[in-house]
Amino acid sequence: MNVRGTFKPHLAIKFKSEDGNACTFSVDTTRIPKKYRQPDAYLITHAHSDHHGKSAMLSGRAVCSDKTAIALEIRHEHKYNGSTVGMGESIDVNGVTVTTYPTGHTVGSTAFYWKNEVGTRILVTGDVKDASRLPKCDILITEANYGDHADSACHFEDDITGFNKAMEMDSSIAFGAYAFGKAQRAVELIRDFGYDGDIEMEDKSLALTQRLLDNCGELVGLGESGGEAMCVVPPWDLGKLPRDIAKYVLTGRSDYYYPAINISDHLDATGLVKMVEDIDPEVAIIYHPNGDRPAKFAEHLNSIGIESISIDNIKNVLSNEFI
Ligand SMILES: [Zn+2]
Repeated sequence: MNVRGTFKPHLAIKFKSEDGNACTFSVDTTRIPKKYRQPDAYLITHAHSDHHGKSAMLSGRAVCSDKTAIALEIRHEHKYNGSTVGMGESIDVNGVTVTTYPTGHTVGSTAFYWKNEVGTRILVTGDVKDASRLPKCDILITEANYGDHADSACHFEDDITGFNKAMEMDSSIAFGAYAFGKAQRAVELIRDFGYDGDIEMEDKSLALTQRLLDNCGELVGLGESGGEAMCVVPPWDLGKLPRDIAKYVLTGRSDYYYPAINISDHLDATGLVKMVEDIDPEVAIIYHPNGDRPAKFAEHLNSIGIESISIDNIKNVLSNEFI
């Protein structure tokens, strides 16, 4: 459904709660115009813009993790109007107990889990980097950002060694990383490798990282550390930094001017398959992103004996039934 081109659904799930009430959960969608019936909840898996939290956060029916709410408020400069839930905790939504599980994709990114009237276990993951803490379920609703098994670009490993080497080679280094998600990962890696000095960051990255990361150490604005600098800035800001700083982009892409270090926020194709195998659902529904990767991932899962359908093919199944 697309209401005057403004409503961007990923997915709405209708089910009966354990009390027998009809419920609808919208997942990663924009708000439905007020004159239409509202879902019981707008579940927001994380604060990346292609999951539409910018719109859903304005509804009192929004549900997300406490850290996702903070990220949305900083990113969009609006008050978050919904309910929040701690990571690994549960929230009651109109009689349905919804539990969150970390997916490791961004700070605060959560999968949502609940049961319907007959005890069917439903899990919606959003984007996933680390599936190790996700529970088993009957209906898995998940992503396929890198789900095309036949595409070599969907097979990768994080280049942690390359990141460490870059840190050892120069004392003044800048890493190009998107302000939300990648920048926090960069700071975590820098600290993991034992650097405990100041890290200079661009304003938005700094605000997000200070509020979202628990042990981020000393973070300062650009040019504020004095002397040698360890910087994390959005990739397009690298060119604004002094020439004598070594510069890298944290990305899987190869079209940047600066050398790339492959640090991803996602599972690759092999990781996605392993996730589905471990969760062991009756059926996997692939709902994200746009494009043909969900269909290709569903096809691959079917080929290895895991029943699966991508969301763009659900309407075909439904319409074929009426032919
Ligand atoms: Zn994302």
